[in-house]
Amino acid sequence: MTVYFINNTYKYETEAVLKLFCPLERFTFVYDESPEKSSDIIIMEVTDKLRAYANIGGTDCEITEPLREETDKEREFRLCRMLFTALTKITGITPEWGCLTGVRPIKVVNGLISKGCDMESVCTELQEKYHANRRKSELAYLTAVTQRPALETLEPESYSLYISIPFCPSRCSYCSFVSHSIQSKSAARLIPQYVESLCREISELGEIMRDKKMFCKTVYIGGGTPTAFSAQDLKKIMETISKSIDISKICEYNVEAGRPDTITEEKLRVIKGCGATRISINPQTMNDKVLEAAGRRHTAAQVVECFELARRLDFGNINMDTIAGLPEDDLASFKHTIDRLISLDPESITVHTLTVKRSAALSGEADKMRPKFFHSEELSDMVNFAFDRLTKTGYSPYYLYRQKNTVGNLENVGYSKAGYEGLYNIYIMEEAQNILACGAGGSTKLIDKATGKIQRFFNYKYPYEYISRYEDMTKYKGEIEKFAERF
Ligand code: SF4
Repeated sequence: MTVYFINNTYKYETEAVLKLFCPLERFTFVYDESPEKSSDIIIMEVTDKLRAYANIGGTDCEITEPLREETDKEREFRLCRMLFTALTKITGITPEWGCLTGVRPIKVVNGLISKGCDMESVCTELQEKYHANRRKSELAYLTAVTQRPALETLEPESYSLYISIPFCPSRCSYCSFVSHSIQSKSAARLIPQYVESLCREISELGEIMRDKKMFCKTVYIGGGTPTAFSAQDLKKIMETISKSIDISKICEYNVEAGRPDTITEEKLRVIKGCGATRISINPQTMNDKVLEAAGRRHTAAQVVECFELARRLDFGNINMDTIAGLPEDDLASFKHTIDRLISLDPESITVHTLTVKRSAALSGEADKMRPKFFHSEELSDMVNFAFDRLTKTGYSPYYLYRQKNTVGNLENVGYSKAGYEGLYNIYIMEEAQNILACGAGGSTKLIDKATGKIQRFFNYKYPYEYISRYEDMTKYKGEIEKFAERF
């Protein structure tokens, strides 16, 4: 599809709106050229008027509005909202979040609450300005209210430490992360060197932070699947963390145990012994047929066994992840998953909506999936069921984010019992806290509270680059030191 911009360069927001309706379409962007007459074109025009024109498969719609005094940002938003309305009319699709396209819609709500808005005025703003529906507006408000205490008590000199372990026992069909299957011999061979480099980075970072007044508030060991590593490797990494970082003030220490086919009693004992306070055991679904279709090599019964094992070992804060929209899943099966997880009584349950990126094995089948999943009512019913059931059984939404190419343009929501909100999840999603990241694909974020500006530093994405170009990559650590000197 070709997108013409006349007298403007509003590509970013335009593309975000287009993706709400055509998530896997490829777009060509053309600036200040006369549009060719054809179907499948979009025209975004700023001349003596604002004009949004869309033609999809021969059905078209044009919306014009007069120019008025406004900032460029406001004009961009207005034109994109016009495009949103045109696409809604052509396709008959009404995205539930309206044209609230960003990854972090709760930031908008937090901003409104800070200005003194109550639930009614937040919902009115989200519905009128962004065309979000009432249900999503209430969800956003409730999430913001639940996470507020965690944000209000956050110390500016605190940071969270993220440890990346981008290895998994095998690759799930829907996976879009950079995660290496340890079934591959070349990936497995990298593990010892990866652990060495990772421990080195943690120690070096610890050395930088030790003399500074910044303190570590949460630790998150994520992946991939950290428990794809052996108990010995996990121990080495976690002992390095304990030696390097002052963990006395840590409020939350997460380990994403992840897939039940990697969890053993020995590994859980190491995780517990090294100080973890919260783990995730992620079924994604409690339907064996769906697990098999997703390429996850475990059963629902194994999920229950792992959960019970973790409880016996005294883990008092367990999160469980699910995904709505997996191939072969349907509403009845998804409802069963949510109800089965509630019956296990974990402290938190995270409900993701399937994201299909081009890098996922599934994306080759994206066109086949499109009629069933994109914008399907069944998917929306799954997500809404999860909200209704979980909020009636003692869980509240506490963090929420969206991703590009998410099926149905829906959201990912963490629900928890009171007092078990995952702090790291809140901090990272609201970009409220400094994050120091170690390991391949880690991205460090330093937040200047005075200006709101975020400095970002990226580690190499792939483990082999992370190992072989370690020196080169970690040159930015001096910037962390300079930043920490402010406190
Ligand atoms: S467990 Fe997660 S990170 Fe690993 S392959 Fe599956 S989806 Fe990807």
